[in-house]
Amino acid sequence: MLSESHLHFHGCVRPKDLLRRLAASDHALWDWYEAGMAAAYGAVPPTRQVVERYRRGDAGAAAEFEDLFLFHDADAGAFARFQAKANLLWVASAEGNPDAGPEEAAAEVAELAAGIRADQERQGLAYAELRISADMLPVLSGGSGTGVIERFAITLDRRDPWTGWERVRDLALGPHGAVLTGIDFSGMEEGRPPKDQAEFFAAVRDFNAAHPNRALAILYHVGESFTDKSLESTVRWVQEAAESGAHRLGHAIALGVDPGMYGAHTRTEPVAERRDQIAYDLRHADGLRAEGVRVDPPSLRDELSRLAALPDTATVTADYDAARLDDVRRRQDYAMGRVRASGAVIEVCPTSNRRIGGITDPACHPVHRFLAAGVPFVVSSDDPGIFGTTLAAELDWVCAHTGGGSALRRRLIRSGWENRSEALTGRAPTTGA
Ligand SMILES: [Zn+2]
Repeated sequence: MLSESHLHFHGCVRPKDLLRRLAASDHALWDWYEAGMAAAYGAVPPTRQVVERYRRGDAGAAAEFEDLFLFHDADAGAFARFQAKANLLWVASAEGNPDAGPEEAAAEVAELAAGIRADQERQGLAYAELRISADMLPVLSGGSGTGVIERFAITLDRRDPWTGWERVRDLALGPHGAVLTGIDFSGMEEGRPPKDQAEFFAAVRDFNAAHPNRALAILYHVGESFTDKSLESTVRWVQEAAESGAHRLGHAIALGVDPGMYGAHTRTEPVAERRDQIAYDLRHADGLRAEGVRVDPPSLRDELSRLAALPDTATVTADYDAARLDDVRRRQDYAMGRVRASGAVIEVCPTSNRRIGGITDPACHPVHRFLAAGVPFVVSSDDPGIFGTTLAAELDWVCAHTGGGSALRRRLIRSGWENRSEALTGRAPTTGA
């Protein structure tokens, strides 16, 4: 029973299916793609020419295209690079074609879905949850046509989830609602703290209580990218997302990554984040101390009064040495306990974490800490098409690098099934097929 919990629809498109679409398109936005690649990589790859050669029947073009499209280990290190390569998925999309109407957009989704479904069947998946836009649900809701059970989560805008929520509610209660089992928050994390979603999450919980048969799981990417704040703050963000009621947390690297990986370094964060962190430390002082974290309320209160004079957007600096990195490790232990108590489940995507998250040393990957602390997690592949991976390969990575072997593999496969969205919201039984 292989279950995929964390997939983005376009991220599942395999190179050969994308190449076929690009070759058939007469409105490809090559200039846009090439500008993005030039900005992210400092050079423009010959993708446009390779597609042209494929069109003319060049037998070697498909392999060359695959190499140009896939986001490899060697590409890792910057989200902008991932975005630039992923743009290729939209180069020939109906969205970018002013002459294309909703019928063309629907036909495009159906064609991509056919390739994705065939691929998932080849992988031997029993179940797949795909993150999509609201417009795609009516096109996709008719069933996979394969042995794979399909469920969907609609991606909402972190900046303003309310705008899309009305449509999601209508879809959930309408004829396509049986296969809509979640909502997803992805895209840029920086500057969008989970605490801003508390009111929205409460509205989703109210909806779920009123419509238990159409309840929606909250799937929240958090702690994946944290360039704008202290390590303490990013650990807090993961805990806050879990305690606000998210059912599954995407990646949550910050919660369990070995802080030693970052070495001695300096970070900055907005004053507003530091104030929130101080409030957190005061509120959780007992629990943090029990894990060995140093908490000194009088000096925190002093700092708070000094910060009161500064605007929210002013920044404060945090210097990390070995002692402070150890302190972060103990904070993670505390936060992992809180996440475990919240019932939230983490989605671990090893290849994505390596290439987007920059966790290149397997020994530093958060999965070791999640296992040690008993934090529930599922393994998934995020964007198997652009990463050139499969769920089996992701499971292999976890079992090999943790030494868990086949016993762990069996446990993780069971966890994938038990923690699917419809089970977490009580719409379907946890166990059994
Ligand atoms: Zn994702």
